[in-house]
Amino acid sequence: MTPNNSSRPLTFKGGIHPSKDGKALSRAAAVREAPLLAEYQLIVQQNVGAPPELLVKAGDELKKGQLVAKAGGFVSVPLHSPTSGKVKEISRIPGPMGVPVQAVIIVADGNDEWGELMPPLDWKTAEPQAVRDRVRDAGIVGMGGAAFPTHVKLSPPPDKKIDCLILNGAECEPYLTADHRLMVEFPEKVLRGAALLGRALGVKDIFIGVEVNKPDAIEILSSQAAGFGVKIVALQVKYPQGAEKHLISAITGREVPTGGLPMDVGCVVQNVGSTAAAADAVLEGKPLIDRIVTVTGEPVKTPGNWRLKLGTPVAEAIRFAGGVTCEPGKVILGGPMMGFAQKSLEVTVMKNTSGILLMKKDDIIQYQSTACIRCGKCLDACPMNLQPGSLSAAIESEKFDLAAKNNVMDCVECGSCAYICPAHRPLVQHFRRAKAEIRNRSKK
Ligand code: SF4
Ligand code: SF4
Repeated sequence: MTPNNSSRPLTFKGGIHPSKDGKALSRAAAVREAPLLAEYQLIVQQNVGAPPELLVKAGDELKKGQLVAKAGGFVSVPLHSPTSGKVKEISRIPGPMGVPVQAVIIVADGNDEWGELMPPLDWKTAEPQAVRDRVRDAGIVGMGGAAFPTHVKLSPPPDKKIDCLILNGAECEPYLTADHRLMVEFPEKVLRGAALLGRALGVKDIFIGVEVNKPDAIEILSSQAAGFGVKIVALQVKYPQGAEKHLISAITGREVPTGGLPMDVGCVVQNVGSTAAAADAVLEGKPLIDRIVTVTGEPVKTPGNWRLKLGTPVAEAIRFAGGVTCEPGKVILGGPMMGFAQKSLEVTVMKNTSGILLMKKDDIIQYQSTACIRCGKCLDACPMNLQPGSLSAAIESEKFDLAAKNNVMDCVECGSCAYICPAHRPLVQHFRRAKAEIRNRSKK
Protein backbone atom coordinates (compact mmCIF):
# COMPACT_ATOMS: atom_id res chain seq x y z
CA MET A 1 0.00 0.00 0.00
CA THR A 2 1.14 3.52 -0.67
CA PRO A 3 -0.14 6.16 1.73
CA ASN A 4 -3.09 8.29 0.70
CA ASN A 5 -2.25 9.64 -2.72
CA SER A 6 -1.07 13.19 -2.16
CA SER A 7 2.05 15.26 -2.70
CA ARG A 8 1.08 17.39 0.34
CA PRO A 9 1.52 16.32 3.96
CA LEU A 10 -1.51 14.26 4.92
CA THR A 11 -4.16 14.99 7.51
CA PHE A 12 -7.76 14.32 8.60
CA LYS A 13 -10.98 16.31 8.55
CA GLY A 14 -11.61 18.68 11.48
CA GLY A 15 -9.19 19.43 14.29
CA ILE A 16 -7.62 22.66 15.44
CA HIS A 17 -4.37 24.61 15.47
CA PRO A 18 -3.61 25.54 19.10
CA SER A 19 -2.30 29.11 19.25
CA LYS A 20 0.74 28.23 21.36
CA ASP A 21 2.68 25.08 20.58
CA GLY A 22 5.49 25.60 23.10
CA LYS A 23 7.68 22.94 21.52
CA ALA A 24 10.58 25.35 20.95
CA LEU A 25 11.26 25.25 24.69
CA SER A 26 12.50 21.65 24.58
CA ARG A 27 12.64 20.31 21.02
CA ALA A 28 16.43 20.78 20.72
CA ALA A 29 17.15 19.41 24.18
CA ALA A 30 18.83 16.00 23.85
CA VAL A 31 17.57 13.29 26.19
CA ARG A 32 19.43 13.31 29.50
CA GLU A 33 19.73 10.49 32.01
CA ALA A 34 18.31 11.45 35.40
CA PRO A 35 20.53 11.03 38.47
CA LEU A 36 19.69 8.08 40.72
CA LEU A 37 17.29 8.97 43.54
CA ALA A 38 17.32 7.59 47.07
CA GLU A 39 13.70 6.43 46.75
CA TYR A 40 11.15 5.55 44.06
CA GLN A 41 7.41 5.37 44.55
CA LEU A 42 6.20 2.87 42.00
CA ILE A 43 2.44 3.10 41.35
CA VAL A 44 1.14 -0.46 41.02
CA GLN A 45 -1.55 0.01 38.38
CA GLN A 46 0.00 1.70 35.37
CA ASN A 47 -2.12 -0.02 32.73
CA VAL A 48 -5.68 0.11 31.49
CA GLY A 49 -7.43 -3.16 32.35
CA ALA A 50 -6.99 -5.47 35.30
CA PRO A 51 -4.62 -4.32 38.05
CA PRO A 52 -1.39 -6.31 38.34
CA GLU A 53 -1.04 -8.63 41.37
CA LEU A 54 1.69 -7.62 43.82
CA LEU A 55 4.46 -10.16 44.40
CA VAL A 56 6.59 -8.23 46.92
CA LYS A 57 6.30 -7.07 50.53
CA ALA A 58 8.17 -4.74 52.87
CA GLY A 59 11.75 -5.86 53.41
CA ASP A 60 12.15 -7.71 50.09
CA GLU A 61 15.43 -7.10 48.24
CA LEU A 62 15.05 -6.17 44.58
CA LYS A 63 17.27 -6.05 41.53
CA LYS A 64 16.66 -3.56 38.73
CA GLY A 65 14.12 -5.05 36.32
CA GLN A 66 12.88 -7.64 38.82
CA LEU A 67 9.20 -8.53 38.71
CA VAL A 68 7.27 -6.56 41.33
CA ALA A 69 3.75 -7.48 40.21
CA LYS A 70 2.42 -10.01 37.69
CA ALA A 71 -0.27 -9.34 35.12
CA GLY A 72 -3.77 -9.60 36.58
CA GLY A 73 -5.34 -11.02 33.40
CA PHE A 74 -5.06 -10.89 29.62
CA VAL A 75 -5.73 -7.14 29.53
CA SER A 76 -3.04 -6.35 32.07
CA VAL A 77 0.76 -6.21 32.24
CA PRO A 78 3.43 -6.98 34.82
CA LEU A 79 5.41 -4.31 36.67
CA HIS A 80 9.17 -4.29 37.29
CA SER A 81 11.49 -2.54 39.70
CA PRO A 82 13.13 0.62 38.31
CA THR A 83 16.33 0.09 40.32
CA SER A 84 18.01 -2.24 42.80
CA GLY A 85 17.26 -1.81 46.49
CA LYS A 86 14.75 -2.82 49.13
CA VAL A 87 10.98 -2.53 49.48
CA LYS A 88 10.40 -0.05 52.31
CA GLU A 89 6.63 -0.42 52.37
CA ILE A 90 3.50 -0.84 50.31
CA SER A 91 1.71 2.43 50.71
CA ARG A 92 -0.80 4.82 49.22
CA ILE A 93 0.43 7.94 47.45
CA PRO A 94 -1.30 10.72 45.46
CA GLY A 95 -2.41 9.37 42.08
CA PRO A 96 -2.55 11.25 38.78
CA MET A 97 -6.37 11.30 38.80
CA GLY A 98 -6.53 13.02 42.20
CA VAL A 99 -7.24 9.95 44.34
CA PRO A 100 -4.67 7.99 46.39
CA VAL A 101 -3.28 4.87 44.70
CA GLN A 102 -1.30 1.85 45.86
CA ALA A 103 2.46 2.13 45.39
CA VAL A 104 5.59 0.13 46.16
CA ILE A 105 8.09 2.36 47.96
CA ILE A 106 11.60 1.26 46.98
CA VAL A 107 14.72 2.50 48.76
CA ALA A 108 17.53 2.43 46.19
CA ASP A 109 20.83 0.76 47.18
CA GLY A 110 22.76 3.11 44.89
CA ASN A 111 24.11 0.31 42.66
CA ASP A 112 21.31 0.37 40.09
CA GLU A 113 22.18 -3.26 39.38
CA TRP A 114 20.21 -5.27 36.83
CA GLY A 115 18.81 -8.66 37.78
CA GLU A 116 18.66 -11.45 35.25
CA LEU A 117 17.40 -10.16 31.91
CA MET A 118 15.16 -12.09 29.54
CA PRO A 119 17.14 -13.82 26.74
CA PRO A 120 17.57 -11.60 23.65
CA LEU A 121 15.72 -12.62 20.48
CA ASP A 122 16.88 -12.06 16.90
CA TRP A 123 14.78 -9.26 15.39
CA LYS A 124 14.92 -10.82 11.92
CA THR A 125 13.88 -14.34 12.93
CA ALA A 126 11.85 -14.02 16.16
CA GLU A 127 8.53 -15.86 15.92
CA PRO A 128 5.39 -13.64 16.04
CA GLN A 129 4.14 -15.33 19.22
CA ALA A 130 7.55 -14.91 20.85
CA VAL A 131 7.43 -11.16 20.10
CA ARG A 132 3.90 -10.85 21.53
CA ASP A 133 4.87 -12.78 24.66
CA ARG A 134 7.99 -10.69 25.15
CA VAL A 135 6.10 -7.41 24.76
CA ARG A 136 3.63 -8.65 27.40
CA ASP A 137 6.33 -9.92 29.77
CA ALA A 138 8.19 -6.60 29.52
CA GLY A 139 5.08 -4.78 30.75
CA ILE A 140 4.70 -2.54 27.70
CA VAL A 141 1.62 -0.31 27.34
CA GLY A 142 0.61 2.63 25.16
CA MET A 143 3.19 5.20 26.21
CA GLY A 144 1.57 8.09 24.36
CA GLY A 145 -0.95 8.35 27.19
CA ALA A 146 -3.45 5.53 26.63
CA ALA A 147 -1.66 2.91 28.81
CA PHE A 148 -3.50 0.11 26.98
CA PRO A 149 -1.49 -3.14 27.05
CA THR A 150 0.48 -3.33 23.79
CA HIS A 151 0.38 -7.14 23.50
CA VAL A 152 -3.43 -7.05 23.38
CA LYS A 153 -3.32 -4.86 20.28
CA LEU A 154 -0.85 -7.32 18.77
CA SER A 155 -3.35 -10.18 19.29
CA PRO A 156 -6.40 -9.36 17.14
CA PRO A 157 -9.19 -11.95 16.95
CA PRO A 158 -8.80 -14.41 14.04
CA ASP A 159 -11.72 -12.87 12.12
CA LYS A 160 -9.96 -9.50 11.93
CA LYS A 161 -7.49 -9.38 9.05
CA ILE A 162 -4.79 -6.84 9.86
CA ASP A 163 -2.71 -5.62 6.95
CA CYS A 164 -1.32 -2.34 8.21
CA LEU A 165 0.67 -1.18 11.24
CA ILE A 166 0.81 2.56 11.85
CA LEU A 167 3.20 4.09 14.35
CA ASN A 168 2.20 7.36 15.90
CA GLY A 169 5.13 9.76 15.72
CA ALA A 170 2.85 12.77 15.32
CA GLU A 171 3.22 14.05 18.89
CA CYS A 172 0.52 16.61 18.17
CA GLU A 173 0.09 17.77 21.79
CA PRO A 174 1.59 21.24 22.29
CA TYR A 175 4.78 21.45 24.40
CA LEU A 176 5.65 17.73 24.26
CA THR A 177 8.87 16.71 22.49
CA ALA A 178 9.74 13.34 24.07
CA ASP A 179 8.72 11.32 20.98
CA HIS A 180 10.47 13.84 18.74
CA ARG A 181 13.77 13.36 20.59
CA LEU A 182 13.28 9.59 20.63
CA MET A 183 12.93 9.50 16.83
CA VAL A 184 15.90 11.84 16.26
CA GLU A 185 18.27 10.21 18.73
CA PHE A 186 17.21 6.56 18.54
CA PRO A 187 15.85 6.09 15.00
CA GLU A 188 17.22 2.56 14.61
CA LYS A 189 15.52 1.44 17.82
CA VAL A 190 12.18 2.82 16.61
CA LEU A 191 12.61 1.20 13.19
CA ARG A 192 13.67 -2.18 14.58
CA GLY A 193 10.74 -2.07 16.97
CA ALA A 194 8.46 -1.24 14.03
CA ALA A 195 9.73 -4.25 12.08
CA LEU A 196 9.24 -6.47 15.15
CA LEU A 197 5.68 -5.34 15.80
CA GLY A 198 4.96 -5.71 12.08
CA ARG A 199 6.26 -9.29 12.30
CA ALA A 200 4.06 -9.99 15.33
CA LEU A 201 1.01 -8.82 13.34
CA GLY A 202 2.05 -10.42 10.04
CA VAL A 203 1.55 -7.15 8.10
CA LYS A 204 3.30 -6.02 4.94
CA ASP A 205 2.69 -2.31 5.39
CA ILE A 206 4.28 -0.39 8.24
CA PHE A 207 4.00 3.40 8.36
CA ILE A 208 5.34 5.95 10.82
CA GLY A 209 3.32 9.18 10.72
CA VAL A 210 5.33 12.26 11.73
CA GLU A 211 4.11 15.87 11.70
CA VAL A 212 6.14 18.19 9.45
CA ASN A 213 7.19 20.31 12.43
CA LYS A 214 9.78 17.56 13.07
CA PRO A 215 11.76 17.72 9.81
CA ASP A 216 14.91 16.27 11.42
CA ALA A 217 12.96 13.22 12.60
CA ILE A 218 11.42 12.73 9.15
CA GLU A 219 14.83 13.04 7.51
CA ILE A 220 16.71 10.64 9.77
CA LEU A 221 13.95 8.02 9.85
CA SER A 222 13.49 8.25 6.07
CA SER A 223 17.20 7.71 5.48
CA GLN A 224 17.06 4.33 7.27
CA ALA A 225 13.44 3.21 6.94
CA ALA A 226 13.69 1.17 3.72
CA GLY A 227 16.12 -1.28 5.34
CA PHE A 228 13.42 -2.15 7.87
CA GLY A 229 10.48 -2.28 5.45
CA VAL A 230 8.99 0.88 6.95
CA LYS A 231 7.57 3.97 5.18
CA ILE A 232 7.70 7.43 6.76
CA VAL A 233 4.65 9.62 6.14
CA ALA A 234 4.74 13.40 6.58
CA LEU A 235 1.62 14.73 8.28
CA GLN A 236 0.23 18.24 8.53
CA VAL A 237 0.58 19.94 11.89
CA LYS A 238 -2.87 19.74 13.40
CA TYR A 239 -4.41 18.61 16.67
CA PRO A 240 -5.35 15.75 17.33
CA GLN A 241 -3.34 14.31 14.43
CA GLY A 242 -1.97 11.53 16.65
CA ALA A 243 -5.36 10.08 17.65
CA GLU A 244 -5.68 6.54 16.28
CA LYS A 245 -8.66 7.05 14.02
CA HIS A 246 -7.27 10.27 12.58
CA LEU A 247 -3.88 8.75 11.83
CA ILE A 248 -5.60 5.90 10.01
CA SER A 249 -7.78 8.30 8.08
CA ALA A 250 -4.85 10.53 7.12
CA ILE A 251 -2.47 7.75 6.11
CA THR A 252 -4.73 5.10 4.55
CA GLY A 253 -7.94 6.97 3.75
CA ARG A 254 -9.85 4.29 5.72
CA GLU A 255 -12.52 5.47 8.16
CA VAL A 256 -13.05 3.56 11.38
CA PRO A 257 -16.83 3.11 11.70
CA THR A 258 -18.83 4.61 14.58
CA GLY A 259 -18.30 2.46 17.65
CA GLY A 260 -15.57 0.54 15.83
CA LEU A 261 -11.89 -0.08 16.41
CA PRO A 262 -8.82 0.33 14.15
CA MET A 263 -8.80 -3.44 13.63
CA ASP A 264 -12.20 -3.12 11.93
CA VAL A 265 -10.40 -1.46 9.02
CA GLY A 266 -7.36 -3.73 9.13
CA CYS A 267 -5.11 -1.40 11.12
CA VAL A 268 -3.22 -1.43 14.41
CA VAL A 269 -1.76 1.80 15.78
CA GLN A 270 1.10 1.93 18.28
CA ASN A 271 3.02 4.82 19.79
CA VAL A 272 6.71 5.20 18.83
CA GLY A 273 7.73 5.11 22.52
CA SER A 274 6.01 1.75 23.02
CA THR A 275 7.65 0.55 19.83
CA ALA A 276 11.14 1.48 21.06
CA ALA A 277 10.35 -0.23 24.38
CA ALA A 278 9.39 -3.36 22.41
CA ALA A 279 12.79 -3.25 20.68
CA ASP A 280 14.54 -3.05 24.08
CA ALA A 281 12.47 -5.97 25.35
CA VAL A 282 13.05 -8.23 22.36
CA LEU A 283 16.63 -7.36 21.47
CA GLU A 284 18.06 -6.78 24.95
CA GLY A 285 15.59 -8.58 27.20
CA LYS A 286 14.85 -5.40 29.17
CA PRO A 287 11.47 -4.74 30.79
CA LEU A 288 9.91 -1.27 30.74
CA ILE A 289 11.28 0.53 33.79
CA ASP A 290 11.88 4.05 32.51
CA ARG A 291 10.81 6.40 29.73
CA ILE A 292 11.58 9.74 28.11
CA VAL A 293 9.56 12.57 29.66
CA THR A 294 9.42 16.20 28.53
CA VAL A 295 9.75 18.47 31.56
CA THR A 296 8.75 21.87 30.28
CA GLY A 297 6.74 25.08 30.43
CA GLU A 298 7.70 28.73 30.87
CA PRO A 299 8.27 28.47 34.66
CA VAL A 300 10.82 25.63 34.24
CA LYS A 301 14.40 26.90 34.42
CA THR A 302 15.86 24.40 31.93
CA PRO A 303 13.08 22.73 29.93
CA GLY A 304 14.19 19.48 28.38
CA ASN A 305 13.74 15.77 27.88
CA TRP A 306 14.76 13.33 30.56
CA ARG A 307 14.95 9.57 30.82
CA LEU A 308 13.12 9.10 34.11
CA LYS A 309 12.64 5.90 36.03
CA LEU A 310 9.07 4.87 36.80
CA GLY A 311 8.28 6.04 40.31
CA THR A 312 10.20 9.32 40.05
CA PRO A 313 8.24 12.04 41.91
CA VAL A 314 7.23 15.00 39.75
CA ALA A 315 8.93 17.34 42.24
CA GLU A 316 12.25 15.56 41.61
CA ALA A 317 11.81 15.72 37.84
CA ILE A 318 11.31 19.48 38.11
CA ARG A 319 14.44 19.67 40.26
CA PHE A 320 16.42 17.83 37.55
CA ALA A 321 15.27 20.54 35.13
CA GLY A 322 16.78 23.24 37.34
CA GLY A 323 13.65 24.06 39.33
CA VAL A 324 11.38 26.98 38.54
CA THR A 325 11.89 30.66 37.84
CA CYS A 326 8.43 31.62 39.10
CA GLU A 327 5.64 29.92 40.95
CA PRO A 328 3.63 27.83 38.46
CA GLY A 329 -0.10 28.34 38.19
CA LYS A 330 -0.71 24.75 37.14
CA VAL A 331 1.19 21.46 36.86
CA ILE A 332 -0.08 19.03 34.23
CA LEU A 333 0.87 15.41 33.56
CA GLY A 334 0.87 15.11 29.76
CA GLY A 335 0.15 17.99 27.40
CA PRO A 336 -2.17 20.98 27.77
CA MET A 337 -4.96 19.48 25.65
CA MET A 338 -5.39 15.98 27.07
CA GLY A 339 -3.19 16.04 30.17
CA PHE A 340 -4.41 16.05 33.76
CA ALA A 341 -3.81 18.92 36.19
CA GLN A 342 -2.17 17.77 39.43
CA LYS A 343 -2.89 18.81 42.98
CA SER A 344 0.30 17.26 44.36
CA LEU A 345 3.92 17.20 43.17
CA GLU A 346 4.28 13.86 44.98
CA VAL A 347 2.58 12.10 42.08
CA THR A 348 5.13 9.92 40.29
CA VAL A 349 6.14 9.13 36.71
CA MET A 350 4.22 6.25 35.14
CA LYS A 351 4.53 4.31 31.89
CA ASN A 352 2.19 6.76 30.13
CA THR A 353 3.71 10.01 31.49
CA SER A 354 4.81 11.74 28.31
CA GLY A 355 5.30 15.15 29.87
CA ILE A 356 5.36 17.27 33.00
CA LEU A 357 4.11 20.71 32.01
CA LEU A 358 4.22 23.76 34.25
CA MET A 359 2.11 26.74 33.24
CA LYS A 360 2.50 30.34 34.38
CA LYS A 361 -0.22 31.84 36.54
CA ASP A 362 -0.81 34.47 33.82
CA ASP A 363 -1.53 31.74 31.28
CA ILE A 364 -4.28 30.18 33.38
CA ILE A 365 -7.43 31.96 32.32
CA GLN A 366 -10.57 31.13 34.28
CA TYR A 367 -13.34 31.51 31.72
CA GLN A 368 -16.95 32.00 32.69
CA SER A 369 -19.07 29.53 30.78
CA THR A 370 -22.11 31.07 29.05
CA ALA A 371 -25.00 29.71 27.00
CA CYS A 372 -24.32 28.10 23.64
CA ILE A 373 -24.63 30.72 20.88
CA ARG A 374 -25.04 28.03 18.19
CA CYS A 375 -22.06 29.31 16.21
CA GLY A 376 -21.25 25.83 14.91
CA LYS A 377 -17.50 26.19 15.44
CA CYS A 378 -17.38 22.97 17.45
CA LEU A 379 -18.91 21.07 14.51
CA ASP A 380 -16.03 22.08 12.27
CA ALA A 381 -13.43 21.30 14.92
CA CYS A 382 -14.67 17.86 15.92
CA PRO A 383 -12.55 15.23 14.17
CA MET A 384 -15.14 12.54 15.03
CA ASN A 385 -17.95 14.28 13.13
CA LEU A 386 -19.94 14.69 16.34
CA GLN A 387 -22.22 17.59 17.22
CA PRO A 388 -20.60 18.75 20.47
CA GLY A 389 -23.03 21.64 21.09
CA SER A 390 -26.20 19.55 20.89
CA LEU A 391 -24.58 16.62 22.68
CA SER A 392 -23.65 18.92 25.52
CA ALA A 393 -27.22 20.29 25.71
CA ALA A 394 -28.62 16.74 25.86
CA ILE A 395 -26.22 15.81 28.66
CA GLU A 396 -27.05 18.96 30.63
CA SER A 397 -30.69 17.84 30.49
CA GLU A 398 -29.61 14.35 31.67
CA LYS A 399 -30.73 12.89 28.31
CA PHE A 400 -28.03 10.23 28.27
CA ASP A 401 -29.95 7.95 25.90
CA LEU A 402 -30.06 10.76 23.36
CA ALA A 403 -26.35 11.42 23.84
CA ALA A 404 -25.65 7.71 23.30
CA LYS A 405 -27.82 7.69 20.18
CA ASN A 406 -25.81 10.65 18.88
CA ASN A 407 -22.57 8.71 19.39
CA VAL A 408 -21.07 10.41 22.42
CA MET A 409 -19.14 7.17 23.01
CA ASP A 410 -17.12 7.99 19.86
CA CYS A 411 -15.77 11.14 21.53
CA VAL A 412 -12.00 10.79 21.95
CA GLU A 413 -11.96 13.61 24.53
CA CYS A 414 -9.45 15.56 22.43
CA GLY A 415 -10.79 18.90 23.65
CA SER A 416 -10.81 20.52 20.19
CA CYS A 417 -14.45 21.60 20.58
CA ALA A 418 -13.88 23.13 24.02
CA TYR A 419 -10.75 24.92 22.78
CA ILE A 420 -12.63 26.60 19.94
CA CYS A 421 -15.91 27.32 21.79
CA PRO A 422 -16.46 31.09 22.23
CA ALA A 423 -18.97 30.39 25.03
CA HIS A 424 -16.33 28.37 26.94
CA ARG A 425 -18.72 25.50 27.42
CA PRO A 426 -17.33 22.69 29.61
CA LEU A 427 -17.85 20.27 26.75
CA VAL A 428 -15.25 17.61 27.54
CA GLN A 429 -16.41 17.41 31.16
CA HIS A 430 -19.94 16.81 29.87
CA PHE A 431 -18.79 14.07 27.50
CA ARG A 432 -16.70 12.33 30.16
CA ARG A 433 -19.65 12.36 32.54
CA ALA A 434 -22.02 11.01 29.89
CA LYS A 435 -19.62 8.26 28.83
CA ALA A 436 -19.17 7.14 32.45
CA GLU A 437 -22.94 7.19 33.00
CA ILE A 438 -23.64 5.21 29.81
CA ARG A 439 -20.94 2.63 30.70
CA ASN A 440 -22.42 2.24 34.20
CA ARG A 441 -25.93 1.79 32.84
CA SER A 442 -24.73 -0.88 30.38
CA LYS A 443 -23.23 -2.89 33.28
CA LYS A 444 -26.55 -3.03 35.16
S1 SF4 B 1 -16.74 16.06 20.83
FE1 SF4 B 1 -15.06 14.83 21.61
S2 SF4 B 1 -13.96 14.16 19.78
FE2 SF4 B 1 -15.26 15.88 19.17
S3 SF4 B 1 -13.91 17.67 19.39
FE3 SF4 B 1 -15.05 17.46 21.31
S4 SF4 B 1 -13.69 16.30 22.64
FE4 SF4 B 1 -12.93 16.02 20.52
S1 SF4 C 1 -18.71 26.16 19.70
FE1 SF4 C 1 -19.69 26.45 21.71
S2 SF4 C 1 -21.11 28.14 21.39
FE2 SF4 C 1 -20.53 27.42 19.35
S3 SF4 C 1 -22.13 25.86 18.85
FE3 SF4 C 1 -20.44 24.76 19.81
S4 SF4 C 1 -21.00 24.66 21.98
FE4 SF4 C 1 -22.27 26.25 21.07
